[in-house]
Amino acid sequence: MLSRHLARRIASRSTPRVVRLSHSLPDFQLNSVNEQDVEHFSKILPKTSILSTLAPISTESSELEPYNTDWMNKYHGKSNTVMRPRTTQEVSEIVKWCHERRIGVVPQGGNTGLVGGGVPVRDEVVLNLGSMNKIRSFDPVSGILVADAGCILESLSEYLAPQNHIMPLDLGAKGSCHIGGNVATNAGGLRLLRYGSLHGSVLGLEVVLPDGTILDQLSVLRKDNTGYDLKQLFIGSEGTLGIITGVSILTAPAPNSSNNVILALPSFDNVKPLFKEAKRQLSEIMSAFEFIDRTAYDLAVKHGQGRALNEGDVEGAECFVLVETSGGNREHDEAKLNGLLESLLEADQPLINTGVLSQSPAQFSQLWAIREGITEAVSKEGKAYKYDISIPLGSFKEVVDTTREHLRSKGVLHDGAVKHVIGYGHVGDGNLHLNIVAEAYTQEIEDALEPFVYELVAKYKGSVSAEHGIGLMKTHALHYSKNATSIDLMRRIKSLFDPHGIMNPGKVLP
Ligand SMILES: Cc1cc2nc3c(=O)[nH]c(=O)nc-3n(C[C@H](O)[C@H](O)[C@H](O)COP(=O)(O)OP(=O)(O)OC[C@H]3O[C@@H](n4cnc5c(N)ncnc54)[C@H](O)[C@@H]3O)c2cc1C
Repeated sequence: MLSRHLARRIASRSTPRVVRLSHSLPDFQLNSVNEQDVEHFSKILPKTSILSTLAPISTESSELEPYNTDWMNKYHGKSNTVMRPRTTQEVSEIVKWCHERRIGVVPQGGNTGLVGGGVPVRDEVVLNLGSMNKIRSFDPVSGILVADAGCILESLSEYLAPQNHIMPLDLGAKGSCHIGGNVATNAGGLRLLRYGSLHGSVLGLEVVLPDGTILDQLSVLRKDNTGYDLKQLFIGSEGTLGIITGVSILTAPAPNSSNNVILALPSFDNVKPLFKEAKRQLSEIMSAFEFIDRTAYDLAVKHGQGRALNEGDVEGAECFVLVETSGGNREHDEAKLNGLLESLLEADQPLINTGVLSQSPAQFSQLWAIREGITEAVSKEGKAYKYDISIPLGSFKEVVDTTREHLRSKGVLHDGAVKHVIGYGHVGDGNLHLNIVAEAYTQEIEDALEPFVYELVAKYKGSVSAEHGIGLMKTHALHYSKNATSIDLMRRIKSLFDPHGIMNPGKVLP
């Protein structure tokens, strides 16, 4: 569903508005693509796989716009050449040429990233992996899947379903994001609580290094202690160390039974004890515990995400929690979930007002759609400043409220353009999505938000990026979560892999 929506969004982007960023654009000295370069690229790739405003291709610049514009319509590059290679060899040859000619390269997956990492800063070439979308192998016994990096996450899930397996990750952008993009951003999402991070489930990678060398580490082994685990460096490197072309990943057996329930809570203070109780009672079958504050819920409903709960169920609710269970025995799992609900409702001081339990696969999807649809609802409501932070669970509400009050004190709340300050996210992982929804992106709001939000995160010893990454948006804030020694080591690793600095320049490192 999302992929169709994205296609429409992209097609309708006609007059992108350039936003002034509070931090200046990164400075790098790289060459622009010229006609000789395009001539050379057209010997590596069929002309149909190249979009370029330069001869001999001469595409209309509007056709390049979707590749130059990020999902939030916040960051705009000026690339004149986009390539869609079909094989690892093609990627390698393009990158080798760019390395020799000192041309910047931006690896791009589904372009659903939320930190401006997948679009050029200036006129770097874009290498979009969308045409590398073949499944290379799947072993139904071990559950190990090997796929091209450009496979869309949802297509992989659809491929696995008849074979009784599921991907170990799931996110609202599944209809558009690529598995390569997921690995490059170390995407978290809705299943991390159960299946852990991609640092655990990715078993091997094939990567084209910034000089064009193909690093083949596409292992299908669960265990391999032969020195440094190089693939880990590429997981979460956001395209700054190389282009991921193939992914080997451990998928999970599909659960025989899945249930979900949305719980309406009278107070945020109840979230923590509720999480503790749900973990205690549901133990091994609890697979998601997601938090939605009241404003986020109201926005999701307003913009048609999922089906609204009954008036009576939401009355008096300050926030909501979506709990999912996945297990192997329907009767056992349902008994556990019903037991939890009964004990919550019958307690002397109930932690919840009500619980809405899905009764069919359609209702299961509708409840999930409320949570998954928040990002999209926010983008329909206005322009979002997105802070994806890790902080202690108990401080979620305080961070949202403090930010709202701060914006009020700066005179930018409501009358001054900020419409809503909302919080939602993966409570079970300590990950809050703090979104500030405004009429428009303005310097005044950005100045009010930064460094305020990052200093708030630092106060809680949190992370300025729980899962979306650093991209272009947060390079100036990296030091809030990484000390000088770590940043220095990151720089040395970057220059070891990419001495000419061509790979996704200006991203991640300040
Ligand atoms: C509605 C919605 C919901 C979302 N929910 C979540 C969520 O729950 N959890 C979460 O973590 N994120 C979420 N995101 C953010 C985003 O979807 C993820 O970051 C996703 O993993 C990006 O994948 P992509 O293929 O779109 O990558 P892109 O946006 O194309 O690129 C992202 C970064 O990865 C690099 N990259 C992409 N492909 C490659 C490659 N093959 N090799 C090397 N580098 C590459 C790019 O250069 C860029 O730096 C959401 C986004 C949206 C729009």
